[in-house]
Amino acid sequence: MGKPDFRVQNLHVSVEGKEILKGLNLHIRGGEIHAIMGPNGTGKSTLASSLMGHPHYEVTAGEVVLDGEDVLAMSTDERARALFLAMQYPAEVPGVSNANFIRQALNARRGEGNELPVLQFHRKLQEKMKALNIDPSFAERYLNEGFSGGEKKRNEILQMSMLEPRIAILDEIDSGLDIDALKIVANGVNQLRSENIGFLIITHYQRLLNYIVPDHVHVMMQGRIVRSGDAKLAEELEAKGYDWLKKELGIEDETVEVEA
Ligand code: ADP
Ligand code: MG
Repeated sequence: MGKPDFRVQNLHVSVEGKEILKGLNLHIRGGEIHAIMGPNGTGKSTLASSLMGHPHYEVTAGEVVLDGEDVLAMSTDERARALFLAMQYPAEVPGVSNANFIRQALNARRGEGNELPVLQFHRKLQEKMKALNIDPSFAERYLNEGFSGGEKKRNEILQMSMLEPRIAILDEIDSGLDIDALKIVANGVNQLRSENIGFLIITHYQRLLNYIVPDHVHVMMQGRIVRSGDAKLAEELEAKGYDWLKKELGIEDETVEVEA
C-alpha cells in the first residue's frame, strides 16, 4: 500500500435536523500532520464523529475518500480498520482488559488467518508501553476503568501506536492533561509520524502544537474551515485570540437562545 490519501469534500452534516458542518474540505496525505483549531461548539467533534460513522450524525452532502475508497459507504467496522479516533472523553469498558481490547482490534484489522501470534503481540505491546512511559500493570487492567484523565489519553495513544491506522484523528487529546502527560502524548505521536500515516489533530488550544508541529493548520468556525496556513497560524491565534479572526472575517457570534 502506498501513502495514505484522505480527502473530505464539501462535507455537510446534520444532528437532529440542525446543520452543524456546512461544507468542509480537507486533504491529508501520509506523512502530514494537520491541525484543526476552533472555538467550542464549532463542530470539531462533530467532524471526528461523522468521519467515524457515528449513527447520530447525518451526512447530507459531500464525499469522504480514503485511498480511492468511499469511506461513507463503509460499515463502522470497516471504517475503524482504516481510521482511528482518539477521543476527548474515552469510554470505560469494564470487564475487558486493555491488552485484550487492543489484541482484538488489531486482529480484526489484520484479518482472519493473519493474526499476530500472542507472544509477538505481547512483545510489541510491552515495547510500545515502555516508549509511552506506561506501567506494565496497565495491560491487564480493565479498559479505562478508574484511569485518571492522563492515563486514559496515554492509553488512546498506545492503542493508536499498536493499531497503526492510515489516518489518525485526535480529538482534544490535550484537554485536561498536565504538561508531563502532554509531552508523553506528543512524543507518542511524533514517534509514529511517518509516510504511512496521516494525522488530524483537533485542539482548542495552541499548547499541544508546541510539541507536535503541524504541517498545516486550519481554523474552523461555524462548521467550515475559514482559514488555513502553516504552524505560524496557530501562534497567531494564540497571541490574538479567536475574536480577532471572527472580526476580520466578519463572523458574528451565534445567538444563544435564552429561556424566558
Ligand atoms: P466542538 O467540538 O467544536 O466544540 P461539537 O462538534 O461538539 O463542537 O458541537 C457542535 C454543535 O453541534 C454544538 O452546537 C452541539 O450542541 C451540537 N451537537 C454535537 N453533537 C451533538 C449531539 N450528539 N446531539 C445534539 N447536538 C449535538
Ligand atoms: Mg469537541
